[in-house]
This record gives sequence, structure tokens and C-alpha cells, in this order.
Amino acid sequence: MELRLDGKRALVTGASSGLGQHFAGVMAKAGAAVTLAARRLERVEEHAEALGKRGYTAEAVKLDVTDSESVSRLFATATPFDIVVNNAGIAGASPALETSSEDFDAVLDTNLSGVFSVAREAAAGMKDCGGGSIINIASILGLRVSGGVVAYAASKAAVVQLTKALALEWARYGIRVNALCPGYIETPINADFFASDAGQALIKRIPQRRLGQLADLDAPLLLLASDHSAFMTGSLLAVDGGHLVSGL
Ligand code: NAD
Repeated sequence: MELRLDGKRALVTGASSGLGQHFAGVMAKAGAAVTLAARRLERVEEHAEALGKRGYTAEAVKLDVTDSESVSRLFATATPFDIVVNNAGIAGASPALETSSEDFDAVLDTNLSGVFSVAREAAAGMKDCGGGSIINIASILGLRVSGGVVAYAASKAAVVQLTKALALEWARYGIRVNALCPGYIETPINADFFASDAGQALIKRIPQRRLGQLADLDAPLLLLASDHSAFMTGSLLAVDGGHLVSGL
């Protein structure tokens, strides 16, 4: 069975780098018309152009998920999306005693309030078009904790609960809301850490003894985006090499 998205319109927030850039490519290759959204317009324009040159359908838009005007503007001008991947996020790693209220709020503003405002605006359009699929990118840190990531873990736990609450309210409109909970995925940004002794020690605690690769997320993403998951809503899909079930 091939997971195709032909005829669907998909939005990816935070598509200028990392997982978001990858997700946009995966959905474009599966046949969706993809909108790559990020604060750095030049970056998403480059990615959209590169996809276009390969024969896929992609466009770029400027979006700051923490700016409600920026979010409203995008949805006021865009044709409703069938698929929205709420991917924009920031890490904010620091011990709790060294985390200022400003830093804490900044993580919650992006990772939680940003996800909510994009989901709400997207759902208003989906409701009028018979439904859609919203995929919130949470994390295994929304389901278990680790040291030094208090704001991030709290924000991702909130995204998990937000996902379930929205799934409950919007099922009647044909809108499905699910969360993808990646474990540690290797990207250019974290490659140096995982090459260090601390990074190698962390990898040993993952039952599969390896980091996730971006490609490990492709089929789970396409499953949640496509109609093959028509009976899934309010679900949490962990993709983590067994990290969540590591022994205590
Ligand atoms: P990344 O920093 O490469 O990507 C985050 C993206 O979000 C960037 O493009 C950034 O510009 C964008 N962004 C940040 N604030 C924004 C805002 N206000 N408005 C619009 N865009 C904004 O990191 P990543 O690792 O690719 O992370 C992507 C998502 O995946 C995040 O939500 C992250 O929490 C989640 N995640 C990542 C991992 C991992 O191992 N990389 C694991 C679990 C979850």
C-alpha cells in the first residue's frame, strides 16, 4: 500500500530547516501541494524552488506562529488546507533554576500557543470543507522527562493534551488531530552533541541503540496525513527506537 497525498493541500510550519523542511519534501513527493511557512522567507523560498525544479508543487510563505496577526493573515489569504503539520518549535534547554520567566514564556509561546493558534485558524477553514488532518509535532519529552528541559518538556506535554482536546471537539467536523512524538532524531544541528561522550551515553539508553533518522518519520507522517488513518484521532504516535520503554 502506498501512502499518497495527491490532490491535497498541506501546510508545514517551521519549514526552513530540520524536520519541517524534510516533512515538506516528503509530502510534496507524495503528491501534495505544499506550503512551506517560516519566519525566514528566503530560506523557505529556496526550499520551495528546489522542490519545484524537481517537478513537485510547493510555495513559500512568511509566518511567525507567535504573532497572531501573521497567523491570521496566512489563513485569510490561503485556500483551506487539507493537512497542517504544526512543526515550528524551539528547544530552550536550561536547568530550571536558571530558566527565566521570559525564557519559559518564549518556549510556551512558540511550542504551545503557536500550535494552538495555527490549529484553530486551520480548523476554521477545514470545517467549511468537510475536514482535514492536523499533525502536531510533540516529542517523547512530552511523555517522559529529562533534566535541563523544563520549559520544553512542559510545552510538549501540553501539546499532547491539546491534541486530545482538539480531537474531541473537532471530530464532528471531520477534522482529525494527532501528535507525532519523535525521539532523538539526528539533524545537522545536534550532530556535534551526539558525537560527544554525553551524546554517545544517551544513545546507549535507547533500546535500539541508535538515533532516529529523518526518514524514520516519513511513513508515520504520511500515515497521519493520509486518509489511511481515517479512524485515528487524538492518537500519539511515538517514533523513538523504544526510548519511551527503556528500563527504569
Ligand atoms: P529546527 O530548529 O531545525 O526547526 C524548528 C523550526 O521552527 C525552524 O525552522 C525554526 O525557524 C522554526 N520556528 C521557530 N520558531 C518559529 C516561529 N515563531 N514561527 C515560525 N517558525 C518558527 O529543529 P527540529 O529539530 O527540526 O524541530 C522541529 C520540531 O520537531 C520541533 O517542534 C521540535 O520540538 C520537534 N522535535 C524534534 C526532535 C529532534 O530530535 N530533532 C525530536 C522531537 C521533537
